Amino acid sequence: MADRATGHRAKKSLGQNFLRDPNICRKIVDSLAPGTDDYIIEIGPGQGALTEHLAEVGARKLVAIEKDDSLADHLAGRWPDLEVVRADATKFPWASLNETGPCKIIGNLPYNVGSKLIWDIVSRVETLERVVFMVQHEVALRLTAEPSTKAFGGLTAWVKNFCRTTYLFKVPPTVFRPQPKVDSAVVRFDPLPREDRPDDPDALSQLIKLLFQQRRKQISTILKKRWTPEVGAWFDENGVNPGSRPENLTAEQFRSLSKRI
Ligand code: SAH
Repeated sequence: MADRATGHRAKKSLGQNFLRDPNICRKIVDSLAPGTDDYIIEIGPGQGALTEHLAEVGARKLVAIEKDDSLADHLAGRWPDLEVVRADATKFPWASLNETGPCKIIGNLPYNVGSKLIWDIVSRVETLERVVFMVQHEVALRLTAEPSTKAFGGLTAWVKNFCRTTYLFKVPPTVFRPQPKVDSAVVRFDPLPREDRPDDPDALSQLIKLLFQQRRKQISTILKKRWTPEVGAWFDENGVNPGSRPENLTAEQFRSLSKRI
């Protein structure tokens, strides 16, 4: 169905579900605690449902990354001060923001690329002040899960090594056009102090991927080929049973184990 105001037809391939409830949009933007000194990046602004509230803040800089050129044109026309980046956010050089200084990132993320974007952003941008993303409800549960629960997965273990995550609120399909099939939820990410983040993210990511590819197996079985006295000692020192499953470790334990493998 084409939008009455803009004539835009929502593209399923780009995960286009546009927010239609100004109160919810305001609540999402408020969760970022935006201020006039801020450098703010919005991912997937679409028709500007969140952008509108962000623009009111009068932030030092507001950037919007939008893959759909026709939507990008609309946004640029409506807010001349907005810097519109016509690009695929999954290919954006996130590490370049480390030269820009402190920044805040927000978005009602396209659901097909949400997890990948979150994986990359939390680990590559070291100057994050705060991040607020709306994602599928089920992904929000994974992002905020505690160890030894069903929702705890590789994404949880990874993200919690970089940020504290908070499940803020659930958003029903009825506030979108077109309506998605599933519930959504808003999650806030508050970066850990720099000294608490992994110093070898590659080693950590390899271990997490290896373990969660076979999450039903015991850790000792998955690590059989890599088992050394040092690895065995790690389990003793940390009081972790080698027969545990990957989901039983805390985010911090993945990091300390990755240093021995
Ligand atoms: N923020 C708007 C739109 C959300 S829909 C609202 O809440 O109403 C998701 C938006 O992300 C769409 O505008 C879609 O075109 C855009 N998008 C999808 N994939 C993208 C990608 N890889 N990079 C950047 N934007 C993308």
